[in-house]
Amino acid sequence: MDSCATDLDLTDKKYQTEVVIAGGGLAGMVTAFELLNAGKNVLLIDKDVKENFGGLAKESFGGILLVDTPQQKRLGIKDSPELALRDWLSFADFGENDKLPLEWAKFYCENSIEYIYKFLDARGIEFLPLVNWPERGAHTTGNTLPRWHIAWGIGHEIAAKVEAGLANHPKNQKLTLMFEHEVSGFEQQNGRIVGVHGRKMRDGSTFSVDAEHVVVASGGICGGDLSKVRDNWYEPWGKAPELLLNGAHIFGDGLLHDQVQALGGNLTHLDKQWHYAAGVHHPRNKRPYDGLSLVPPRSALWLNALGKRIRNPAPIVAYTDTRHLVESILKEPGQYSWQLMNWKIAIKELAVSGCDYMSAFRYKRKLEIFRHLLFGNKELVNRLVNECPQDIVVARSLSELVDKMNEKNLGVLKTDLGTLTAEIKEYDDQIDRGPTYFNDEQLRLIMNFRTYRGDRIRTCKYQKINDSSAMPFIAIREFILARKSLGGIQTDIDSQVLSKEGWVIPGLYAVGEAAGFGGGGLHGKGALEGAFLGACVLTGRRAAMSITGVDKLASKS
Ligand SMILES: Cc1cc2nc3c(=O)[nH]c(=O)nc-3n(C[C@H](O)[C@H](O)[C@H](O)COP(=O)(O)OP(=O)(O)OC[C@H]3O[C@@H](n4cnc5c(N)ncnc54)[C@H](O)[C@@H]3O)c2cc1C
Repeated sequence: MDSCATDLDLTDKKYQTEVVIAGGGLAGMVTAFELLNAGKNVLLIDKDVKENFGGLAKESFGGILLVDTPQQKRLGIKDSPELALRDWLSFADFGENDKLPLEWAKFYCENSIEYIYKFLDARGIEFLPLVNWPERGAHTTGNTLPRWHIAWGIGHEIAAKVEAGLANHPKNQKLTLMFEHEVSGFEQQNGRIVGVHGRKMRDGSTFSVDAEHVVVASGGICGGDLSKVRDNWYEPWGKAPELLLNGAHIFGDGLLHDQVQALGGNLTHLDKQWHYAAGVHHPRNKRPYDGLSLVPPRSALWLNALGKRIRNPAPIVAYTDTRHLVESILKEPGQYSWQLMNWKIAIKELAVSGCDYMSAFRYKRKLEIFRHLLFGNKELVNRLVNECPQDIVVARSLSELVDKMNEKNLGVLKTDLGTLTAEIKEYDDQIDRGPTYFNDEQLRLIMNFRTYRGDRIRTCKYQKINDSSAMPFIAIREFILARKSLGGIQTDIDSQVLSKEGWVIPGLYAVGEAAGFGGGGLHGKGALEGAFLGACVLTGRRAAMSITGVDKLASKS
């Protein structure tokens, strides 16, 4: 960002701009880009260091939910906004008061090409030709069709390309970037928000900014010290697990959510959170309970701490319904799980959600990707085994494996060798009998997964667990990992913040995860995956369009 002023000293100063944006994740970046298009003066302030500009998007897998794209059409996938919305509603399970989330969901499905695909395409972001198909539903309809478009170069590329778009913008002299500064509150005059104040992270000195418009783009509440996650734990799930891992932003502490609420702004759906079921302790522990989210193999057996397969009511299987997986594990003793596989399954199916470990995708190494698809990703599995000894055990016999698992089981919980052996035998025997007689939901699902090319290349063909040619056994202890806040600051379809009474708070906008991805809860109870990044683009553009008057959809109250 050399061409932008990056180290303007605001210490104890009043500064003036047209629009101030609090947060430089994807949502903040996109808002800034769109505002520059309209020639606005923009000051973007982020608590983090400059190298992390782009926030979570930079670490993400870069998969985006898009509807009726050229990539889908080339694969013969016939998608439509109506079908996407139907699928969305089946996971969201909106209540009758969720009018704004519903309006945003409809807007997303109808406009993902215009608002998201075209914006990213214009920044030079390409998508892989094979569209992925997560969240196809376990007991509710999820994605009827593949919709998860992976950016070539994954999340890092998305953030880098948008950052380059800002740096090379013809009006980029109108953009000022401030890193390592925390926005800690808002300035209000006669009911209108007219600026922000905050402190410098390095020395605690203060600053304030006068602005015509303020955009909150500070992300969700799932990071920080996890206290907000626990305080807002979804009641029907009972108590939050004692050991919960943190996979969200280090600064996702909800500070600005609280400030918006103090102004009379409406926070909604904070108890709707998108956690993952397969978290392990992060080897580069940057904070307490730092977690790494694994993409769990579909051919692994998902067991509880006692060694029993987790059934709710059928055996749980990855890639179907993340919320169902989390709910199922939360009912088990200790509220954590074990995934049991062997080397052959791991190298074909195990992956990690995020940029760091998925280096072939991150650095666009096509040959390496093909090699991994053909022969398995041995480097990744070896790396995980070496770096995560806290949660991954490897053994050549089941008794050795169970001994190692029991060294790691929490409290009084013990995996029973007999139970685990019987579960494996029952599953493996079905595979021996052949697909005609598959009577196990996991095997039926695997059979179904393998009918789609995008999944066939990443799913073993009915791989037994106890198979001497696939040794060693690998068992992974997995915890619930907090990742995304589905709720947040309630906004109208122009990303304007609403009060508890439903009035617009003049001058104040919220975008991205801070706004619950739109309307304070775009996803309702559950997400189809990929609409997180997508909604950052969508809400950011809507906010900027509303500020500049380019396109206002909602009539103002
Ligand atoms: C490993 C990983 C993989 C993911 N994969 C996907 C995926 O494939 N598809 C998908 O759709 N989603 C994915 N996500 C989720 C997605 O990345 C996030 O939901 C999205 O990037 C959030 O963007 P944001 O701009 O709203 O917030 P953030 O990226 O959290 O950015 C918020 C910014 O605000 C700053 N900030 C916070 N508080 C303050 C303050 N008080 N003052 C100033 N600055 C502040 C922070 O430093 C940060 O830079 C993934 C997330 C992770 C962690």
